[in-house]
Amino acid sequence: MRNALLRARGRSNRVETGSGPDHERSRRPAFARLSEEIRGCTLCPLAKSRIQAVVYRGSLTPHVVFVGEAPGADEDRLGIPFVGRAGRVLDRAIESLGPALGEFGVLNVVKCRPPANRFDPRAARACRPYLDRQIALLRPRVVVPLGRHALAALDPSAPPILTAAGHARLAQLGWLFPLVHPAATLRSRRLKERWGHDLRAFEGWLAELRLESV
Ligand code: URA
Repeated sequence: MRNALLRARGRSNRVETGSGPDHERSRRPAFARLSEEIRGCTLCPLAKSRIQAVVYRGSLTPHVVFVGEAPGADEDRLGIPFVGRAGRVLDRAIESLGPALGEFGVLNVVKCRPPANRFDPRAARACRPYLDRQIALLRPRVVVPLGRHALAALDPSAPPILTAAGHARLAQLGWLFPLVHPAATLRSRRLKERWGHDLRAFEGWLAELRLESV
């Protein structure tokens, strides 16, 4: 792990994060412009069925960005990612990570609610430039794909989510730490246990990453 971390640090500036008020101020206008663009998007048919596009919540200088699949009904109504039942699971996890996490943000691969909450690959393709631009502007140290669709979008060569979850992997865009989708933990006791276990692994890995970068 140590070697991989050092390699990543030397490899590119993607693992460097810019935090602090100056970075926050300098990112704000570009992020606001991008968010407006997403809110006005008509690139795919979901633009007709949505109440509103769901863009982002969190810090503009995040260390960690959690990436979900697509908004559900609550998110569509409120315009904020992960505010429903799955969001409460995620928020409890974020709280339990405490200071190990640092600043964070939450967004989705697909920005508009798909009918019947079914993941829509066509929408994912249309939204792709938004996802890439959000991550490029936010420059997090770690991206956490939540569930198989987010993992496939962020790292097409990753193994299945149940193999990848709970382990750091170095992808083209930098460090990923995949987790099972929080909504899945509401349906399955086994996945709820897996979620808890993987969160502790994430906490330990974050502490190691922090130590490596001081
Ligand atoms: N599930 C997701 O993947 N994203 C949300 O914003 C809410 C539920």
